[in-house]
Amino acid sequence: MKTYKIVELLGDGISAELSESVHRIAQSLPLKLEFIPYDLSEEARDKGGIEIYDEAVRLMNEHGVSMKYPTATTRESPNKVLREKCLFSVIHRPVATIPGIQTNFTKPLDIDVVRVATGGTYDDAGQRIGKDTAVSLRVISRGPCRDAARFAFRLAMMRDTNVCSSSKWTIQRETDGFFEEIAGKVANDYPGIPYRRELFDALLAGIVMHPERYGVIVCPNEYGDFLSDSACGLIGSVGLGDSSSYAFDDEGQITTAMFDPSGGTAPDIAGQGICNPTAALFAMRNMLLHLGERDSAKALRQAVLDSISTGDCTGDIGGSLGCVEFTEIVAKRMEATLQKA
Ligand code: ATP
Repeated sequence: MKTYKIVELLGDGISAELSESVHRIAQSLPLKLEFIPYDLSEEARDKGGIEIYDEAVRLMNEHGVSMKYPTATTRESPNKVLREKCLFSVIHRPVATIPGIQTNFTKPLDIDVVRVATGGTYDDAGQRIGKDTAVSLRVISRGPCRDAARFAFRLAMMRDTNVCSSSKWTIQRETDGFFEEIAGKVANDYPGIPYRRELFDALLAGIVMHPERYGVIVCPNEYGDFLSDSACGLIGSVGLGDSSSYAFDDEGQITTAMFDPSGGTAPDIAGQGICNPTAALFAMRNMLLHLGERDSAKALRQAVLDSISTGDCTGDIGGSLGCVEFTEIVAKRMEATLQKA
């Protein structure tokens, strides 16, 4: 049986329940996931101080793949620290319709938002000039833009879909113009993948009117941030999504990958056994894809979707199951699919 070592970054609130759910699913996979737990809870961070991240990052870089669960942001933001220390340059947010979830938007959506994880306006807090003006610096760098574009094209190849790069290159001519130049160059290396660019405002309207036209969308940092959450709104939930972060070597190969559910620590329901592990299981599915385990990834996603659409789900989305019961149903459904294959 194929074995993979996965670093598990444990956090706060519902983190332990989400991790249990992931472990239960792992038991039903036709492969072995060997988890290496590392405590990043608030208590551990209080005790260990900022140095606690050094060992986390060492493990993440050594093993290459990690799952991260929600962590409370009290002083520092663990996500921000990890992003900086691991040199993550790309964030991927898959956003797809979940049949059975109530939405205002009724068309099917299935997009992958690939975001340059550094620069844009986010690396500079800016400064006041006099009493009535403030400025900030906007940074677009070749390396992370190229990593993001390459990641987008590889993903589109795997999904058999198109790539759209999006920014405001007609206004931000130097910065967004540079991003589009880099994306366009990468596109030349993938002649088989349909590619176009769209101005970001037009893209937002386009997604709402014709979601079927979009597959993978690659954008600079802040646009990707806005788009990820607004797209989650279209599918009816900001909390059911997952995200992954990647660092690359000079040849554009992924060196370190981290997968995490986008939701928070939900302290109000922690320990009650009622949390929804969907986002954590979607993160696990994306991790399986990254490991090259496509059949398992597909079976897991389908099992989650089928369970939700038939009403076998947790209370937050209209069902009556606890986290453990829901996970058990998903595991059984996934096993049945994998046995048939
Ligand atoms: P944090 O500070 O970590 O973001 P929070 O409670 O402010 O925590 P969320 O964790 O996003 O923010 O929770 C917002 C609401 O959604 C809470 O009422 C919480 O119980 C609910 N919620 C969040 N995640 C889940 C989940 N996985 N399953 C069920 N309900 C959830």
